Amino acid sequence: MDSISPCSETSRLDSNGEALGQKMSSYLVPTLKEMPAEAEIISHKLMIRSGMIRKLAAGIYSYLPLGLRSLRKVERIIRSEMNRFGAREILLPAVQPAELWKESGRWDKFGPELLRIKDRHKRDYVVGPTHEEVITDLIRREIRSFRDLPLNLFQIQTKFRDEIRPRFGLMRCREFIMKDAYSFDIDESGADVSYQAMYEAYRHIFIRCGLKFAAVEAYSGPIGGSYSHEFMVLAESGEDAIAFCPACSYAANLEKASTPDYPVTPGESGPLEKIYTPDCRHVPQLAAFLKIKEQDIIKSMLYLADRTEPVLVLIPGHREINLVKLKESLDGREPVLASPEEAEKIMGVPMGFVTPVGAKVKIIADCGIKRLGSGVAGTGEKDYHYLRTQVDRDFKAEAYFDLALTAEGDLCPKCSSPLTIKRGIEVGHVFKLGTKYSVSLGADFMGPDGTESPIVMGCYGIGLGRTLAAAAEQNHDEDGLIWPLALAPFQVALLPLQVQNPEVSRVTGALFDRLTGKGVEVLLDDRDERPGLKFKDADLLGLPFRVTVSEKSTSKGQVELKLRATREMSMLPVETAAEEITKLIQADGS
Ligand code: ATP
Ligand code: MG
Repeated sequence: MDSISPCSETSRLDSNGEALGQKMSSYLVPTLKEMPAEAEIISHKLMIRSGMIRKLAAGIYSYLPLGLRSLRKVERIIRSEMNRFGAREILLPAVQPAELWKESGRWDKFGPELLRIKDRHKRDYVVGPTHEEVITDLIRREIRSFRDLPLNLFQIQTKFRDEIRPRFGLMRCREFIMKDAYSFDIDESGADVSYQAMYEAYRHIFIRCGLKFAAVEAYSGPIGGSYSHEFMVLAESGEDAIAFCPACSYAANLEKASTPDYPVTPGESGPLEKIYTPDCRHVPQLAAFLKIKEQDIIKSMLYLADRTEPVLVLIPGHREINLVKLKESLDGREPVLASPEEAEKIMGVPMGFVTPVGAKVKIIADCGIKRLGSGVAGTGEKDYHYLRTQVDRDFKAEAYFDLALTAEGDLCPKCSSPLTIKRGIEVGHVFKLGTKYSVSLGADFMGPDGTESPIVMGCYGIGLGRTLAAAAEQNHDEDGLIWPLALAPFQVALLPLQVQNPEVSRVTGALFDRLTGKGVEVLLDDRDERPGLKFKDADLLGLPFRVTVSEKSTSKGQVELKLRATREMSMLPVETAAEEITKLIQADGS
């Protein structure tokens, strides 16, 4: 459009050096009409369709200009809140020497998610999936005394995790950008203060990002540590399940939730009896055939700890096994369910008929089995089951653990109200690490009395791309994205409908200049395209405010304003339109 000089477009920058206005014709916004076939969840589909991201390889994505602008907004919110809550920014290397990982013990423990590389001298390195080792190495060299503590350092940087199933676009990538922070304190109470500050910072960050989220108690995972919370964005497509108590504040990742006292009615006592149960391999079939409740069946599942030691795991038939808890009860060894062939080889019978009675392998059981006391179990013979299989009479478990996955309706461990289960996306994680890394890597400080003690650490991560994708997952409709103002790549979509019309062109140019002059971010759709296509693309991109300039509106001295979220429309006088839009943006406050 002639009336907008290229100079005015590129010369107006915000305080971050970002261009305030952009013409779509000279910007890479490759929108797609069709839903991309490979995308499974809506955020992934819409971020591809709106030309924000493109896939390079499995779990490896490029950010195109619009995607990058939104990513930068997430980044700036995170940076400012981290600074506000006392963390200081650094930048650590992405490539890390293997020696540090050997020192911490994670070279062997981390498994295939760790991308290991060799340099030209055949020395081992890793592409950092996280930075506890590197930062602890820095701290052990630089920190000497209690006077240097507390300290909290953060970075915003690319990580690599060779995820087994990269999927859902930016949600679960192999290469992704993370904000990771690490706190260093002289004692537990200091570490608590640092943890609390980060917890607060995270609340601020996700509120500012316009997300509906919950902080939930979490399992600490392979990073280790003693205590942690996950920040979950609530969304149906979330990979995590969360146990919520509607009555009190309790919320926990299902992996971590503990409701070992779930109701079990004791089974009937009496002699063991073998009965014919044709074609009853699974609990529901068997319960239906015997006309009993699923809870009356002792489910026996054969696992191989770290793929080697067979362990028979028992649980009442109406409950599922929590694999995280099972792993803990196997001293951290990975529980791998035996295949039908493996089960047959080890137990001499297909999985559905495996029995604890006379089993030659180690048996562990969920606490519910103790309360059940007796139930229907396999016989070790195809198509036969035992009635009244009694704990300690017919089989002995080596140990009882809390192994059952918490279910809807289980009672809250805090207030005993029934729990509900919701789905969520983990966008952030705060851990109290204690002295795990300071001890293994030798990061000590000298106290006032001259004694050396290990530094007490915490670590705090947020996935930037995942946060952005989670926002898309929560904010969209059938026409496209609906960005919260704080994360929108631009605040305003400016749509001249007849770009050849001099009056439309003049009004558009003036509005563009006035808006950007007031610091408003404007994406100008200057393409010579049909109005229908421009409207469709504007809905797809989801910028909060759409301003349409047409022959019809300008003939009345007006432009049309449409709010993307509510679809509310109004006509504004050309002269005051920029002021009114600016006011609306400021009123949003994010
Ligand atoms: P998950 O259970 O989803 O694999 P995690 O527990 O491995 O996550 P952390 O090590 O706590 O994740 O990493 C901190 C943050 O980094 C996460 O809260 C998440 O936002 C982000 N993140 C982790 N893995 C990925 C990934 N594969 N792709 C994108 N973001 C990720
Ligand atoms: Mg992970």
